[in-house]
Order: sequence, then structure tokens, then C-alpha cells
Amino acid sequence: MNKKKITIIIVIILAILLVGFIVWKNLNKNNIQDDGKLKIVTSFYPIYIIAQNITEGANNIELGNMADVNVGCLHDYTLTTEDMKKVEKADVFVVNGLGMENFIDKVINSNNTMQVIDSSNGIENIIKDDNETNPHIWTNINNYITQVKNISERLQQIDSKNANIYKENAENYINQLEKLEEEYIQKLEGLKGKKVVNLNEAFEYLGQELQMEMTTIETNHEESTMSAEMMSSIIEKMKNENIQMILVDKNDNKTMAETIANETGAKIYELDSGLKGSIEKDAYINMVKYNMEILQN
Ligand SMILES: [Zn+2]
Repeated sequence: MNKKKITIIIVIILAILLVGFIVWKNLNKNNIQDDGKLKIVTSFYPIYIIAQNITEGANNIELGNMADVNVGCLHDYTLTTEDMKKVEKADVFVVNGLGMENFIDKVINSNNTMQVIDSSNGIENIIKDDNETNPHIWTNINNYITQVKNISERLQQIDSKNANIYKENAENYINQLEKLEEEYIQKLEGLKGKKVVNLNEAFEYLGQELQMEMTTIETNHEESTMSAEMMSSIIEKMKNENIQMILVDKNDNKTMAETIANETGAKIYELDSGLKGSIEKDAYINMVKYNMEILQN
């Protein structure tokens, strides 16, 4: 064998090794269950609570939440390196949708084999008069039930081995939610048509469900952003229309609400928007019960 032939053989062997290596690497990349577990990651707290209920008892899955549970809402949220690590390894990413996760493109770009479940499918944005969206859909129990259905149905498709578990869990959870909703609507019937000033946009969907006549001030969950002009116009409106209710989140700073209440004699109702809290399975149900109790008074 001459030198030329040996060189050609070496080049061919190297080429085969290189192709083999690339194929092997890609196989590993596409093999989403690298440790045998389906990794489901939710974007933030309310979605994590839903996923916890649906996936209970499922085999070979790992459920995680991206944002810290105390982060609250994801408006203007900046992804951390820790978040990126979690989503890069995810097989399924479950989001609220309706623009809540404004970083979604970045996440998808970092992991193109990941499946994304949008829980807001079929749920209508409440703000109809401009291009803005209000993504806090879950404070309407009906919407929340749709979110549970959407997530469960997609999980059944993605992970057929656990399909029966997802289906049954969702059905049980929805049963509980529907019973609670019936009680909630019945007990709070007196609020129908009631005029209310709402200082936390998360409650817009709650007002929709209870058919309240709601004036919502967009504050990004931070009343201190309200201007003095806005505040005096609200006070005037409340006096003119005899509005007696102010809604805030129990975690909000209440300085503005207190000023308005002092000026108008209205009562402040400190509700739970379900944006943060304990990570127990029944957290959402407890949130509804809590709000029901506060609003009954
Ligand atoms: Zn928000």
C-alpha cells in the first residue's frame, strides 16, 4: 500500500467517525427523556398549581416551576440564568398564555424540541376596546376550568402512557371546581351589577364572572404607580356614583386605596389574586374560598 492509499483510508475512517459522532449527538439531543423522565416545567405559580393537580400519581415525570413562586406576576419579567437552565432541559413547557410570558420566544429558541402548552386556548381577552390584553384569566373560575382542560388534553397527547391519569385527575379537579363555582356564584349573587373600583387588574376576570360593574385602574399590581390626577378623578367618580367598594390584592401596598377610602367612605376588600402563595394542591380552591368569605361581608 502506498502512502496515498493510506491517507485516503485514514480520511475515510475519520469521516465515518465524524458522521457517526454527529448522528450520535443528534440522537441524544432528540432523545428528550434522557434520564427516562418527562420533564414538565410550568412558567409561574398559578400554572404550577394546575399542573400539580393534573400530574399527581403520573409515572416517570418530573414537574418543576420556572419562576420563583414568590415572583408574582410575570409582567416585564426578565429570565434568570437559573430559569434558562430549567427550560433548556424541559420536554414540555406549560404557559398561561395571552401574552403573560412575553419571553416565550427566547425560551423556544433555546430548546427547539420542547413542546409548549398554552393554557389560554379558547379564552377570550377581556379588554376589547384596544390592543392591550389582560392575561389574568384564572380569577374567573370558568376560565380556570378551561385552562385545566387545555393542559390535561395536551398532556394526554404528549404522554400517552399517563393519559388515563391526566384525564382522571383533571375530571376530579374540575368536579371540585364546578361545585365550588356553583356555591360561589350563589353566595355572591348580591354583587351582580354592583359598582366597584378595582385597583388590581387581576380581578377584572373575577368581576366578569360575578357580573360586577367594575372600573379597573391598570397599575401593574402596584398602586403607587397611580398618578395624583387619576386618584382625584377616581375619588370624584366614586362620590358621584356612590361607589362603595374598592378591590385590592392582600399583598398590595394599600396606601392609595386607604386615601381613596378615607375620601369616599368606601370599604377596601383585600382579595387574593392567586399570583403567589403556598404550593399545595388546593391553593386555588383555598383562594376562591378566601375571596368568597371576604366578598360575602
Ligand atoms: Zn399581572
